[in-house]
Amino acid sequence: MRALLAANWKMHLYPHQAEALLRELRQLEVEAGAWSFPVVVCPSYLYLPMAIQLLSGTSYQVGAQNGYPGEFGAYTGEVSMAQLKAVGCTHVIVGHSERRQYFEERGELLRQKIQDAQRRGLKVIYCVGETRPQRETGETLSILETQLREALTGIEVIWENLIIAYEPVWAIGTGLNATPQQAQEAHAFIRGWLRENGASADKIPILYGGSIKPSNAESLFAQPDVDGGLVGGASLVAADFWAIAAALQKAKGAPV
Ligand code: PGA
Repeated sequence: MRALLAANWKMHLYPHQAEALLRELRQLEVEAGAWSFPVVVCPSYLYLPMAIQLLSGTSYQVGAQNGYPGEFGAYTGEVSMAQLKAVGCTHVIVGHSERRQYFEERGELLRQKIQDAQRRGLKVIYCVGETRPQRETGETLSILETQLREALTGIEVIWENLIIAYEPVWAIGTGLNATPQQAQEAHAFIRGWLRENGASADKIPILYGGSIKPSNAESLFAQPDVDGGLVGGASLVAADFWAIAAALQKAKGAPV
């Protein structure tokens, strides 16, 4: 199954709140059982060891929101892919639009992050997506093509360790989600690009991200090329995140 759901907590929550949310997520699985697809929780770096500990023995996996290529080095303030792997992370998000926008991440750095993370055994959730003006001027697909090419060509991608997240920037944190048709069009384009570039594209999860809520999740997940979600705001409320997981299970035809 290529379905997958990921929670992106961003720079949210104090320690006691993070702990409470992790305990709630754990309890939901204890009571209702695990989903048939991977569910990845990406808290801030500070809470990674706590998440790994509190979710141990469950089906949840823990990922980081960012990472720096390499093992050790004089990179004050950075956390390496090797360190993430060593503490027990399974995934890392690369190329999120907030990192492109505020930290100017692109090109060579994204390639290095993806290559290094994958070589160290982390699965990469690589994010792409257009801004509002780019959509309005009809550039969406060419922006997606540029963002896929800049990060996934010129390195040896381990396709089995790649997940793509399509996140239209105008939909992130705004309450305005892409329509299911807009999402499907972008996802189908991304899958086509992956196929043309040597991937077993049918096996790569392509997640939608941008204001997913329990109320809109099922219609987005019902699209054939929308394999799951990268959930920001709604992942901070355990019941909402769980409802989104239930919508994914339902949309992909598995028993809830
Ligand atoms: P959102 O964020 O669900 O709050 O829109 C999604 C993301 O940025 O990953």
